Amino acid sequence: MKSQGWNKNWHDARLEIIPNGHTSSTTCYVAAAQGAIIRDGEGNEYIDFAGGIGVMNIGHSHPNVVAAIKTQVEKFTHTCFAVAPYDAPVRLAQRLAALTPGKFAKKVMFLNSGAEAVENAVKIARYFTKRPAIIVFENAYHGRTLLTMSMTSKVKPYKLGFGPFAPEIYRMPYGDAVGPDHLKDFFIKNVNPEAVAAVVAEPVQGEGGFVAPPPGYFQQLTQICHEQGILFICDEIQSGMGRTGRMFAIEHWGVEPDLICVAKSLAAGMPLSAVVGRQEIMDSVHDAGLGGTYVANPVACEAALAVLDVFEREDMLNKSVILGQKLRSHLEHLAKRYPIVGGVRGLGAMLGIELIEKDGMSATDLAKQLATYCFENGLIILVCGSYGNIVRLLPPFVITDEQLAKAFDIMESGLAHISGRVQPSLSAAAQ
Ligand code: PMP
Repeated sequence: MKSQGWNKNWHDARLEIIPNGHTSSTTCYVAAAQGAIIRDGEGNEYIDFAGGIGVMNIGHSHPNVVAAIKTQVEKFTHTCFAVAPYDAPVRLAQRLAALTPGKFAKKVMFLNSGAEAVENAVKIARYFTKRPAIIVFENAYHGRTLLTMSMTSKVKPYKLGFGPFAPEIYRMPYGDAVGPDHLKDFFIKNVNPEAVAAVVAEPVQGEGGFVAPPPGYFQQLTQICHEQGILFICDEIQSGMGRTGRMFAIEHWGVEPDLICVAKSLAAGMPLSAVVGRQEIMDSVHDAGLGGTYVANPVACEAALAVLDVFEREDMLNKSVILGQKLRSHLEHLAKRYPIVGGVRGLGAMLGIELIEKDGMSATDLAKQLATYCFENGLIILVCGSYGNIVRLLPPFVITDEQLAKAFDIMESGLAHISGRVQPSLSAAAQ
């Protein structure tokens, strides 16, 4: 165990040198992480319901991933794929092309972050279609670069003061708000469909509040896209890599996107993202039109290959399905007991609860209080949604039943606390 002041010391030092705009939702300074547990430098343990924002689906420090990274690091770490290429991205591309929905020929390009994947998917879609416009959705989140921030829906904190924004982005309501018939109307009132390169959608919205669309929505949406020569770009950055019980959430509806963006849990914490798409679209761009110094980094690609092996060997998809059922039953229990819980939302193991005030309004402050309470008692949870009142759960699939029970004890106690009720005894509070 390190000194008692570790967290505070590092927090104070961080405030001096890291810009204020780059905040963290907790104040534990991590020393190690394993499976579903994070440890800080004071020896405190936290159950991790955030997974580094959906990055650690197979758990922290999986030994096979650690081994793959070590092996590659000892060989070489960077030569730049655009200068002296190597085989790991080729092998990974072959596997991703086979794993993603769509039986057609595909090509795969690697990038470093989710935002960069979305940027490149849009670049490629515009190039292929020779059309400028992009349709996105309310409550969408696609990243923080100029283009992806412009595509993102929520003003504060993501866009406030950061304009002017990228042009030719049109936003429509998502799934449960308005059916895809709205798209036809949208073409009358907002944008000429012949000017639209792509519709970009998260199959289950992440930062926007874990919103799953009604059945049939994506089938109809993509049908309209198809009729209009508009590409469908599926942002699977948060919903992918098994989180909803399928490798990619869009598989729930049998839809084959033209381009798919993958990141987060793809490489279990190494910065890696990918655009997987129809061959003729991906190949339309001229020589050297795509790239980047670090893209297709060999260490990150080897980590991702190990992740895919772990998915197969340890039946991670099945683990995700079972976890989703357990999470749902725990959350439904909470929804029955606590009026502050307005409902359970999401799909598979991508679930959250909506917190509401007595008058039905979004309980933004209470959601923050719940997250703080949970953290102080050894559970890391995240809030999301346009009103900041959705508590979302993204635990690793390898979380144990004991850890789950302990986490839900803490959550329940936290809900009692913020509801102003007598707290049930908190047997499980972390030390
Ligand atoms: N798209 C979605 C759906 C996301 O959830 C995120 C990250 N939360 C991004 C894009 C951006 O990814 P990154 O932070 O790696 O740029």
